[in-house]
Amino acid sequence: MTEKQMRPIVVQWLKKEGYGVAHEILISGYCDLAGYRFAERKDKRIPELMEVITVELKINDIAGAIRQAINNLYFVNESYVAMPLNRCVKMRPKSLAQFTDSGIGLLGIDTKVTEIISPNSDFRKDISWMKKKMWRWERNGYQRLEQKKQKLYPIKGKFCGETKNGKPCGMPAVYRSGGNYDHYYCRDCMPEKVKAKYE
Ligand SMILES: [Zn+2]
Repeated sequence: MTEKQMRPIVVQWLKKEGYGVAHEILISGYCDLAGYRFAERKDKRIPELMEVITVELKINDIAGAIRQAINNLYFVNESYVAMPLNRCVKMRPKSLAQFTDSGIGLLGIDTKVTEIISPNSDFRKDISWMKKKMWRWERNGYQRLEQKKQKLYPIKGKFCGETKNGKPCGMPAVYRSGGNYDHYYCRDCMPEKVKAKYE
């Protein structure tokens, strides 16, 4: 199971729980998914933002996931990590304790979402600074995300530099990452956050 496969399952869960959904939203860093709830709209003004929760999608790297989730928790009411369910059930007690100790929730993902650890909730935080951002998602979030998706085409003469089973992947590259040196990725090996932005 990949982060890309987990995403729609977590989105459905958030919706079922009554949240609006925002993707790749800047909170402390970029957060994979956020659920938000607004008060009922009574006039032309943006209604009060009642609640924001975040979900970080991770295949493994428990320590990294918890670190990100703790950073989110400074700003939001509840913070979760979502991992494949088969990964969660094999998790050592010491790892599970890291979630409970830091107040981070854990969601196990297969075809549905299982809440393995409930997060601590804190509704006293000031989330009003996120109001406009979340309202934009409420008004046109999904459409915007779809429209923004760009098509990727093979880059002539370039091949994927990721390592698979100890060998270079070598598939035609479709994406070049910026930075100090060029790194090329094929469609399969692209980072999940890039995959989310392209088709
Ligand atoms: Zn590759």
